[in-house]
Amino acid sequence: MNREKSQIFFEKAKKLIPGGVNSPVRSFISVNEIPFYVERAYGSHLFDVDGNAYIDYVCSWGAIILGHAHGGLVEEIKDAVKSGTSYGLCHPYEVEFAELIIEAFPSIELLRLTNSGTEATMSAIRLARGYTGKKNIIKFKGAYHGHADFLLTSGGSGMATLSQPESKGVLDDHVKNTHVADFNNIDSVWRIVKEDRDVACVIVEPIMGNMGVILPDPDFLKNLESLCKEKGIVLIFDEVITGFRVAYGGAQTIFGIDPDITCLGKIIGGGFPVGLFGGKRQIMESISPLGGVYQAGTLSGNPVAVRAGKYVVQYLKERKEAYEYLERNVKKIKEEVEKVAKKYKVPYTINAVCGMFSGFFTEKRVRDYESAKSSDKILYEKFFKLMLESGFFFAPSPYEASFLTLAHTEEEITATIEAYEKIFRQLGKR
Ligand SMILES: *Cc1c(COP(=O)(O)O)cnc(C)c1O
Repeated sequence: MNREKSQIFFEKAKKLIPGGVNSPVRSFISVNEIPFYVERAYGSHLFDVDGNAYIDYVCSWGAIILGHAHGGLVEEIKDAVKSGTSYGLCHPYEVEFAELIIEAFPSIELLRLTNSGTEATMSAIRLARGYTGKKNIIKFKGAYHGHADFLLTSGGSGMATLSQPESKGVLDDHVKNTHVADFNNIDSVWRIVKEDRDVACVIVEPIMGNMGVILPDPDFLKNLESLCKEKGIVLIFDEVITGFRVAYGGAQTIFGIDPDITCLGKIIGGGFPVGLFGGKRQIMESISPLGGVYQAGTLSGNPVAVRAGKYVVQYLKERKEAYEYLERNVKKIKEEVEKVAKKYKVPYTINAVCGMFSGFFTEKRVRDYESAKSSDKILYEKFFKLMLESGFFFAPSPYEASFLTLAHTEEEITATIEAYEKIFRQLGKR
């Protein structure tokens, strides 16, 4: 595959933008590859500036669910833009949008819109601290909640120790109030809360999507919910990926959990920068102008973004069978590809849930940070490159999830499984 024009753009970009990219994974650095430059996207496909086509399994990191450039959505956006692109004032669509979201997520009584998932989680934590008057927070090792300072830590051992920052520029002081627990290990949370009475909240991705897909063990989330209730700790569900992806009402409807605050993003913007956090009335009323927790945004509730998001959510609401379609396709990939892996003796496990999946090059069951990290990165790099050459774009990192849209046809799923077979045949007899 010729990627000459992409290469030229990338060389130029590196002189203008740090690393040539506006978000680090886009550099393809962890698979030692050069990024391709997208000219346009349509349905399940990305087309690069050199004229190559790829079936897209990244889908803007999960933000796209209807497929790229979905006709009805494009019309909605065109129409929205004609009425102005930003008012910084109230408008009817934000009310209708809030109504739709609250109807979809019974745990949300009031919500506030933001411009990204990062803003949503950052604000949710400020709110939890402001509401409880407590200082400390608990997150899980390997979870990503955006790039706010106090969440950029993963800690060492999952014990109630002080955390280490994961980025330069993040001070020890920024993360000294962040405890790190182990996903699927409720005892690791109990150990923290038994010693620390100053915990304001626990933030969790109910289905982890940022070290590959990792499913919660049965009861883990229920136990976490009971623990938080017992200790008066605010439970924050970060459903920025899972919201409207794994089910219409997110992972919380699948597991029957009633979190205090939910963060959404990605899908709810229809490809525009949107996030939101919402939850129990009593907690949400602590936000300004009602309460003393400050939170704001010039572009928050942007009319174009809100109309795009509302279109997507409304579309899904009217076609709940969409989730059966996504589920069926993911299941097919998991079953067929694991069979193929066995056939060619490639160590490979797929974790899958409606609309998203990850393949790990390991025979272990991947259920936490350590087992995800122990997968074979060299094999992943080979897999990535061979898939790209075959016209399939998977995440340029072994720890990112793969996503499906409603535009991925059953024929394309079959073609993808055939590509796996060809590649595993090659990797198997290394
Ligand atoms: C992507 C993501 C975020 C951050 O959202 P941005 O819009 O990138 O700021 C937060 N939490 C989770 C679980 C995410 O996947």
